[in-house]
Amino acid sequence: MKYVDEFRDGALARVIAERIARAVDPRRVYHFMEFCGGHTHAISRYGVTDLLPANVVMVHGPGCPVCVLPIGRIDMAIDLVLPAAAGKVPGKRKDVTLCTYADTMRVPASRGLSLMKAKAKGADVRMVYSAADALRIAQDEPGREVVFFAIGFETTTPPTALVVRQAAQLGLANFSVFVNHVLTPSAIAHILESPEVRELGTMVIDGFIGPAHVSTIIGSQPYDYFAEEYAKPVVIAGFEPLDVMQAVEMLVRQVNEGRAEVENEFTRAVTPEGNAKAKALVAELFELRRAFEWRGLGRVPYSALRLKEPWAAFDAERRFPMTEHSVPDNKACECGAILRGVKKPVDCKVFGTVCTPENPMGSCMVSSEGACAAHYTYGRYRSAARSAVRSRTTCARST
Ligand code: SF4
Repeated sequence: MKYVDEFRDGALARVIAERIARAVDPRRVYHFMEFCGGHTHAISRYGVTDLLPANVVMVHGPGCPVCVLPIGRIDMAIDLVLPAAAGKVPGKRKDVTLCTYADTMRVPASRGLSLMKAKAKGADVRMVYSAADALRIAQDEPGREVVFFAIGFETTTPPTALVVRQAAQLGLANFSVFVNHVLTPSAIAHILESPEVRELGTMVIDGFIGPAHVSTIIGSQPYDYFAEEYAKPVVIAGFEPLDVMQAVEMLVRQVNEGRAEVENEFTRAVTPEGNAKAKALVAELFELRRAFEWRGLGRVPYSALRLKEPWAAFDAERRFPMTEHSVPDNKACECGAILRGVKKPVDCKVFGTVCTPENPMGSCMVSSEGACAAHYTYGRYRSAARSAVRSRTTCARST
């Protein structure tokens, strides 16, 4: 398949691996954060870390939309379709149907529930493949209130905007959206401002691999700030293994040459300006929230969107009595630290034993883009072995 097979070519991967091995300075360690879950998945699936020198360390970032959704927001969705679970009486309103992507249904919430378990208790939760599916259900079933559980970064926001505008054009009075769209640059800034990076120095980030699909919308320009203000190189890369390796090579060269620039490996789809039409659509319907809670990052200022006032009728949070509570993660779960890049899945005591993709205890084990699920599926033994080798290497270097 064009643009896929050639980016999975093993022989080419070895050529790039040799180039990286020649380029790295053996006296230093390079720490690169891959922001996006798509990169985490590719790195685990294709064993990219095995091809990298031991002194190139990949750090997982918070770019998995299902993983960063805090428990409190999932509770709000459950309360909408299962008011009795929250001790609420629904009152006089039509029955609510919640339309959501499959992964979101499996994320553990409070009270031992998840959307999947709420469905088993009789709640009308339906799996959809797109926002347009949810709109169609609202058209087909005017007797029900249909709510689309909108999650994701800048890539999934334009389709949500589109269905809200369509609902308005159609005069659909039974459709609304529970908006949980979050913003990539705010999360990167938050990580760079975190105590682990700024004060304690317990987390080193020498550069970022920027997300491909998000950047097709927002372009490469929003990352200029990180290169200029924080002197961190950013390379936007596609989601195939050779894209990631190419990006690592570009980052290594920037670090070696003391440069901090935004470079674009994914020139086949990303431009500096991004998609003007999609950005205009989002700007027409959405505005910034003052703050939004992310799993692992806490409340991040101006990091998420909500519908503007003229579209309030389609905003589930204004339409229904929804209350947000901050709910701590399960004490055994290290998702928060993993999403901040401070820990790795194998650092979690219940990884692969109590917590597996079949029985996830935390959100990072649910989606295939989640760091725990990716490590479990493709490299749980390799991860542990490589961690051990890395600690030996680090000890040897520091003595
Ligand atoms: S293995 Fe499970 S419990 Fe541990 S951090 Fe990952 S998702 Fe959370």
